[in-house]
Amino acid sequence: MPTLSLMPTEFTVVRNEEKCIKCLACVRQCGFEAQQYDAEDDRLYAIDANCVNCQRCVSICPAGALTIYKNPPPLRPHAFWTENHLRNIAKQAETGGVLLTGMGNDQPFPAYFDRLLLNASQVTNPSIDPLREPMELRTYLGRRPEPGAKTRTPLVPIATPIMFSAMSYGSISHEAFASLARAAKEFDTMFNTGEGGLPGDLYEYADHAVVQVASGRFGVHADYLNAGRIVEIKIGQGAKPGIGGHLPGEKITAPVAATRMIPEGTDALSPAPHHDIYSIEDLKQLIFTLKEATRYQKPVSVKVSAVHNVAAIASGIARAGADIIAIDGFRGGTGAAPTMIRDHVGIPIELAIAAVDQRLRDEGIRNQVSLVAAGGFRSSADVVKAIALGADAVYIATAALIALGCHLCQKCYTGKCSWGIATQDPYRSRRLNPEIGAERLYNLLRGWSHEIKEMLGGMGINSIESLRGNRLHLRGVGLNEVELKLLGVKHAGEAM
Ligand code: SF4
Ligand code: SF4
Repeated sequence: MPTLSLMPTEFTVVRNEEKCIKCLACVRQCGFEAQQYDAEDDRLYAIDANCVNCQRCVSICPAGALTIYKNPPPLRPHAFWTENHLRNIAKQAETGGVLLTGMGNDQPFPAYFDRLLLNASQVTNPSIDPLREPMELRTYLGRRPEPGAKTRTPLVPIATPIMFSAMSYGSISHEAFASLARAAKEFDTMFNTGEGGLPGDLYEYADHAVVQVASGRFGVHADYLNAGRIVEIKIGQGAKPGIGGHLPGEKITAPVAATRMIPEGTDALSPAPHHDIYSIEDLKQLIFTLKEATRYQKPVSVKVSAVHNVAAIASGIARAGADIIAIDGFRGGTGAAPTMIRDHVGIPIELAIAAVDQRLRDEGIRNQVSLVAAGGFRSSADVVKAIALGADAVYIATAALIALGCHLCQKCYTGKCSWGIATQDPYRSRRLNPEIGAERLYNLLRGWSHEIKEMLGGMGINSIESLRGNRLHLRGVGLNEVELKLLGVKHAGEAM
């Protein structure tokens, strides 16, 4: 029996009656039924309790008549029992279930990117003007050839060190998935299928796809592996380290089911571990199997969550024969994750990059693998800092979805996304035009790439590969000794 919510609403929807022209667009487009129309009384009203503040109605209202306010805390402030804790407990008292959420960790942990500053040339080692001089952002992913090696898997070039991270068809709409595929091809970078396979009508973009093999093995077959450019074994995801995935049956529509090779309407459950991987030796066996299946033509990436011993794990992955190691930090997004896991498990990507890069260098194997960082890249400056810390390239996902219209309401797991992104409902998903979506994503890559060139030029560097792991170009602000040591950077004000 549904229980009455004992908590006050989080948001208030305010409609300016003088401006409103009663077009009803907000009623039609609110994915969460917060906007209502009473035809009998010809009256518009809002159910504040349903509002998730996705901002769809505000953005599409032709009259600019809508505003959504976050309600000021109506509860007595308590530094220990925060509003979040109270709301969560109340929700669980009502439902008896695990708290679910979408997108990345929203807790106020330190953002190390915001405590790192970049260098610039002055007088000596003059800066480079990227408008007048060539500036190389092309990056090559994969294992560098070893002298005397019999087989050599080709390196994969990408035009910019930014790729689209794993987002599966099923967790996002076909329109969103197609937007990512098109933009990746047009910009000559990569998108990532996630664990849901590659829809048949998008094989024309496969040359720019990282095709994932996850624990559920959804959509994995020989043609899929051979069509992609890179094969990625997904061990972990930053938003939910150590646990599996669950795509509810309502999202398994006929085309999603066909792509995943599972029955329509059944829950898609990915187990927490791969049932054939319990050691580095087992991982080595799967890497070998995938390389055999693709005739050594596809670099194999292994993606893990950034966890406490990530450096040792990465060392094992490199030694197991992976060509690329992808590390996903605790700010990484998700279509659905238990809130407690998302918010309390894992470590920041900045510390993980520094630790992994240093460990691989210390062991003399850094050049054998490419290191791709994911989980919380909000700007081109974050990308440059990640590369200076030791990454070869980065994956972006949340930023890409924001470019497509996402307003970070964190309700992806409901399947009701008003922006047509995290939904399989055709009425909602057709709001996203893949051509326009691809253009917006392309623009984002273009803007960030220009900015990266400017930052590189300012440092007197003309190629992104020269910045990789060059931590002398970073300085910390407001960091303690341990943090500086882990990041391998000096404090601002210290000389070279
Ligand atoms: S979209 Fe704007 S103008 Fe149209 S009904 Fe809603 S509030 Fe009124
Ligand atoms: S994808 Fe949609 S549901 Fe998910 S956070 Fe963005 S706007 Fe909300």
